[in-house]
Amino acid sequence: MLADIITTMKLCNSCGKCCEYAGNGGLSASREEIDWWETHRPAIARYVQDGKIWVDPETGTYFARCPWLRQSPDQDRYTCDIYFDRPEDCRHYPVDIAQMVRDDCEMLERRDFDDLKRAQQKLDALMSDSRPPVTR
Ligand code: SF4
Ligand code: SF4
Repeated sequence: MLADIITTMKLCNSCGKCCEYAGNGGLSASREEIDWWETHRPAIARYVQDGKIWVDPETGTYFARCPWLRQSPDQDRYTCDIYFDRPEDCRHYPVDIAQMVRDDCEMLERRDFDDLKRAQQKLDALMSDSRPPVTR
C-alpha cells in the first residue's frame, strides 16, 4: 500500500548533504540539457565546459561545491537556485540505497538497513514521479 510505503521512509528534509557531494565533477548532464541551458538559461550554461558541470569559468576547474546550493537564513536547510532547471542527475536522486548511505542521506531510517531490498522498493515508490525504478 502506497501510504504504508511513504510513511516507512522519511521524506527529504533539505539537509543538503547530497548536494554537498555534487561538487568536483560529481554530476553529469546530457547534451540535450546543456543545449537547453545554452538557449534558455545562459547563466547556468556559463558553468558548463566541454560537457562538464559545474566548472568555474575563471579557473576552468570544477567547483569544489555545487555553485547553486544555497543555505537558508537559519543556516540549517538548503535550497537549489536552479531547482526547476536542475540536471536529471539531481532530479533522479536518490537512485539507490548505497548512494544514500554514501551521502548520509537523512531520508534513511535505522530499519531501512535491516532490509535493503525493501528499502529500495520504498525509495522507488517514493521517487516514482521522478524516475524509473532501479532494476538489478
Ligand atoms: S544543481 Fe541544485 S540539486 Fe543539483 S547538486 Fe546543485 S544545488 Fe543540488
Ligand atoms: S541527503 Fe537526502 S535528506 Fe538530505 S537533501 Fe539530499 S535527498 Fe534530502
